[in-house]
Amino acid sequence: MNASLPMRVHVLETARSFDRFRIGRPDRTDVEAAFQTIIRWTGDDPERDGLIETPARMARAFEEFFSGYSQDPAVILQKTFTEIDGYDEMIVLRGVPFESHCEHHLAPIIGRAWVGYVPSGRVVGISKLARVVEAFAKRLQIQERMTAQIANTIDEVLKPQGIGVIIKASHHCMTTRGVRKPDTDLVTSRMLGCFRDDPLTRREFLSLTN
Ligand SMILES: [Zn+2]
Repeated sequence: MNASLPMRVHVLETARSFDRFRIGRPDRTDVEAAFQTIIRWTGDDPERDGLIETPARMARAFEEFFSGYSQDPAVILQKTFTEIDGYDEMIVLRGVPFESHCEHHLAPIIGRAWVGYVPSGRVVGISKLARVVEAFAKRLQIQERMTAQIANTIDEVLKPQGIGVIIKASHHCMTTRGVRKPDTDLVTSRMLGCFRDDPLTRREFLSLTN
């Protein structure tokens, strides 16, 4: 059986969804016109000096905020290393900072992610774990789904003995508007394999994320 086959299928499916995303995608002029409308709707004049370039700047900023749609996390994790001399202890990348946007208000979600796994014969470069966090953060998100997506993707592609992902983040849609509760953060977690089944592994991971 070819162990890498499910991953290739996943990559192909993702490539097809990229195609769907590109077809009918508005071009930059449409987006700038939309931002101009929003500025006018706030009550300001989009033609005044300080605002004239703003729609173009916003389009560039949004390109950066949502650059995750053009990244395939499964591809990021494709290169693995197997010369690990039987290493089978926990690997934890701690406190990866990220900025995302909530899909309900497009307000920033600012937080950190802890990603740990127990390898099963192969490991990935640690920067790749941070890039997977980034690829999912730079999309319209809710924190719960983002947490699950990171864990599920690493689990599917790397097939470790177990994986744990914890995210702590503050949501500007509730700290700066709505109920206005600054200094609150939301903690979410997803544990799979030995992180879910073995209380000691789970505890070890949690002790490294405080
Ligand atoms: Zn929100």
